[in-house]
Amino acid sequence: MHIKKLRLLTPGPTPLYPPALHAMMASDMHHRTEDFRKVYKSVLADLKDVMGTSGDVLMFVSSGTGAMEASVSNLFSRGDKAIVCVAGKFGERWAEIAQAHGLEVTLLESAYGDTVAVERVETALAAEPATKGVFVQASETSTGAAHDVRGMGKAVAKTSAILVVDAITGLGTMPLDIDGWGLDVVIGGSQKAFMIPPGLAFASISPKAWQHYETSTLPHYYFDFKKEKKNGANGESSWTPATALVLALAEALKYVKQVGMEKLIENAGLLARATRAAVQELGLELFSPKSPGSSVTAVRAPKGLDSGVIVKEFRSRFGAIIANGQGSMKGQIFRIAHLGYFDFADLFAVIAGLEVILHAYGHPVTFGAGVAAVQKVYCDAAVRQTVGV
Ligand SMILES: *Cc1c(COP(=O)(O)O)cnc(C)c1O
Repeated sequence: MHIKKLRLLTPGPTPLYPPALHAMMASDMHHRTEDFRKVYKSVLADLKDVMGTSGDVLMFVSSGTGAMEASVSNLFSRGDKAIVCVAGKFGERWAEIAQAHGLEVTLLESAYGDTVAVERVETALAAEPATKGVFVQASETSTGAAHDVRGMGKAVAKTSAILVVDAITGLGTMPLDIDGWGLDVVIGGSQKAFMIPPGLAFASISPKAWQHYETSTLPHYYFDFKKEKKNGANGESSWTPATALVLALAEALKYVKQVGMEKLIENAGLLARATRAAVQELGLELFSPKSPGSSVTAVRAPKGLDSGVIVKEFRSRFGAIIANGQGSMKGQIFRIAHLGYFDFADLFAVIAGLEVILHAYGHPVTFGAGVAAVQKVYCDAAVRQTVGV
């Protein structure tokens, strides 16, 4: 066999930032001490900073879904009317969580690969003025499409409803002006653009969302926004925090601040643009051509080739883990991630590997054609000057 470095290239978990990983080794620390309170406080402050909100940011020990569920159980009541935008597997998750808590859900569905238009949200809000909440994904990771959350924020701000945004792969890959666009709850997760392992979730909470908290009657205990806010102000979490992950996040946030959130977003955007150019150059089709996001690019496998084969070949030939499609998209598409600790060297390798795999399965390939498309985007953007070291 030859040497194969293991490379995690999925849209969550994403490649880890090495200094963050090393920081985890200092976790023989008690969480009810001044040393840890200092770290916890700085992490909450830095999260607020990189998310760019003057509202509260809370942190939870869970994967992203925990914060999604918490935003329902803390801000709504049984029977509340809600609009859920569903354009992929994560939109379906919103619907399932809302329904599990007894919300009365109106689904706005779009085909996988498509998005839910702002006008449909406006129409649904007008049809049901008692609507308490609108749920959407900023970036629908299962299809690679991005929603117009800015437009949705504008539409929802005129009503008494709140906009709850799953930005778990939106943060760090697309601009999100939380306060300016009226995004009442914005949810993030540690294993996406934040470059650390899974296990922490965050949520920003607007003043309007806090009003919802006051009237909510759904039961909750572990995830309690108000309790978490009160404790967070003192540098503590309500329960035992994931100490190692908090230390990692502190380190990763330092890096994100050093690079700059804008540049992190630009980095993902350039990689996404280069990926789209490369796969189209290789004769492949994008799965979400209308509103492609920058967190991940979903690509249709060539006719007659199961995308699972491409995923497997990446693993066995190059030690690289890329993502298959989820649900009914499994076997149809493969997904190349761009969020967080990804760079052009990663992408050169992924596209070069893709060319080899396509060639091996009889798809006509001019070696280097896809890589050249990436090189062109790199050179045109003069990346050396624009992306932090
Ligand atoms: C990763 C992800 C989630 C969260 O999934 P967890 O497994 O709970 O971390 C939610 N929404 C989107 C869009 C995601 O990409």
